[in-house]
Amino acid sequence: MQQAPGKTPIRLGLVGIGKIARDQHLPALAADGRFDLVATASRHAQVDGVPGFASIDEMISGEHSIDAVSLCTPPNGRYEQACAAIGAGLHVMLEKPPAATLSEISELERRAAAAGVTLFTTWHSREAAGVSPAREWLSGKRISAVRIMWKEDIRRWHPGQEWILGAGGFGVFDPGINALSIATAILPEPLLLQAATMDVPEGRAAPLAATLTMCSGAAPVTAEFDFLQTGPQTWDMVVETDAGTMRLAMGGSVLHLPGEEPIEAPDREYPRLYARFAELVAAGASDVDVRPLRLVADAFMLAERRATEAFAF
Ligand code: NAP
Repeated sequence: MQQAPGKTPIRLGLVGIGKIARDQHLPALAADGRFDLVATASRHAQVDGVPGFASIDEMISGEHSIDAVSLCTPPNGRYEQACAAIGAGLHVMLEKPPAATLSEISELERRAAAAGVTLFTTWHSREAAGVSPAREWLSGKRISAVRIMWKEDIRRWHPGQEWILGAGGFGVFDPGINALSIATAILPEPLLLQAATMDVPEGRAAPLAATLTMCSGAAPVTAEFDFLQTGPQTWDMVVETDAGTMRLAMGGSVLHLPGEEPIEAPDREYPRLYARFAELVAAGASDVDVRPLRLVADAFMLAERRATEAFAF
């Protein structure tokens, strides 16, 4: 099943043909010669010209040889799919959030190591153009406060996605975990959760809004997540330091440093994720980082819940 590194393309099966698979994974794969999309697995959808199967089990046992899978299904249920792939000796790339629970991801890590395959927990927002320069700029600075505002319109970005407000759907933490993936990547000191609130609409399991009170070393860090923001959308992080204020805007894609022109570049998040996956496969390595997921789990343990009015898409 395994390819010789750098010789032939990785034969990839894409699982869960929904919004992100179509918006990002298919274009990124089409532009990357290191991958050959040989199959898809989705209950209702197919990709023109690519053999389609109704489930990952059918895809794996189909006639096309597959080296790796990329899972774009919702997080709740992905564990079983990843287990099936690892059990078949396939490398696995996981959309964010990588699993529904921390136990699932640690068991996947154990299984992947035992099977000698690559497991990659992707965090696409970390690949935004401003994130790496933000981490470099913050290194060695004294941080006095961090404010995260992640506010978007669920109806615009997740139309009809009932799963997102169900158990294991993460609610507003589905986008919010992107902010936490950036914060854990750029702040020099680990983030600790101290308090949280969650607004959960009647009849739903997951919150439409949340606030987090955290610290990173001595610096207070606050986060406001909102899924009902209409009009301009906000995916911003403001970091106060002894060298001035840094603002990472538009989901990490624009970096404002004191006294400098903004740093920005075209969106290359998913091409960079697939490039990294190819490197990991070639190196026989895995990349499993659960820090953003752990903070979300902490929030679900610690938060004060407030019931709010029912929500319909
Ligand atoms: P989506 O549009 O609902 O697509 C997910 C697909 O997975 C569905 O179309 C469905 O296809 C399949 N699926 C399998 N089991 C399912 C289940 N129990 N419930 C619902 N669908 C199921 O969702 P998405 O927006 O692409 O998000 C998928 C993952 O990508 C999430 O983890 C999300 O956080 C991440 N992501 C999304 C975005 C975004 O902008 N939407 C951005 C970055 C990352 P079939 O019905 O054909 O099986």
